[in-house]
Amino acid sequence: MTDYQLPLIYTSVIGSYAWPGWLHTALAAMGRGEYGPEDWKETQDDAVELALRDQEDAGVDIITDGEMRRIGFFTAEFYGHMTGLRELPARRKTGVVGHDQRESYEAAEAVQAPNGLGLVEEYQYLVKRTRQMIKMPIPGPYTLAGRIKPGSVYKDRMEVAYALSEIINREMKALVQAGATFIQVDEPSYAVHAHSPKAFVDLFNATVSGVEAKIGVHLCFGNFAGRPVAKRTYHPLFPFILDMNVSQFALEFANRELSEIDLWKEFPNDKELAAGVIDVKNYYCETPEDVAERVRTALKYIAPEKLSITPDCGFSQTARWAARRKLVAMVEGAKIVRRELTGTA
Ligand SMILES: [Zn+2]
Repeated sequence: MTDYQLPLIYTSVIGSYAWPGWLHTALAAMGRGEYGPEDWKETQDDAVELALRDQEDAGVDIITDGEMRRIGFFTAEFYGHMTGLRELPARRKTGVVGHDQRESYEAAEAVQAPNGLGLVEEYQYLVKRTRQMIKMPIPGPYTLAGRIKPGSVYKDRMEVAYALSEIINREMKALVQAGATFIQVDEPSYAVHAHSPKAFVDLFNATVSGVEAKIGVHLCFGNFAGRPVAKRTYHPLFPFILDMNVSQFALEFANRELSEIDLWKEFPNDKELAAGVIDVKNYYCETPEDVAERVRTALKYIAPEKLSITPDCGFSQTARWAARRKLVAMVEGAKIVRRELTGTA
């Protein structure tokens, strides 16, 4: 195992990276039956290479495979690994792209994933292709449960989530077995459904139970088609989420101009914060100085040893040219502040 030396205020990404244009073209070709499985695998392998290159060129410290193999963040790819689901007809097919157009399912029998969710294969490819430290993002059970109606099998969304929690827990343990050391659970829904944070925390802790890795959690307000689906506030989740068995929170701040960064003062805690300092929904491309300014603001409330930076969310909904520029600005902005703190970047 490589011993990674991370700098102060290291940089990372949330998970998904911008698709190259030709990957959309290839997906459409596959939909028309023009690609075989081997063609598609080669295509996705090539897309991972480009995601790695963009992150490495920018100088990001902890990287992912850009989730190039996951069509739509957590949708078809993950549900396709599960049994016991019946797909429901789309309620809206025309008009502007929106959350209400995404696929949904109903539980026809107990939901299972006999061959896992495919993340071990993602990791095994990635680890051979980069020397950088790797983070493995995995969708959380409450988020995944959002597209599965309980049917007559489960009582409610929470019961569906607990069934998925077991599948995710197994996948995380398999990832650790394969060598993964840092896993981030993505639960946009936690921030969206803040009505019972205690119940979410219990579910989360069951999901990560016995997983021997650094665990982070990404809580955001939704990003599909660049549209959030929630009030943009974390405040109702505090102090409950401090009981989550995680060492790092990855939260979005850039698109709220650092609003609520003072939560770390109101609710002092030992968790690391991966602060979102790049607005993935904005085609204004931050300058390094913009990023430095945001980091300086964050440092008023959290110690530099506990702070790292990321974009607000994944880049899957951002054009690649903008994602590339934004990554570079993030890394250069971190260097400015690092120089101010330590005299060296
Ligand atoms: Zn997000």
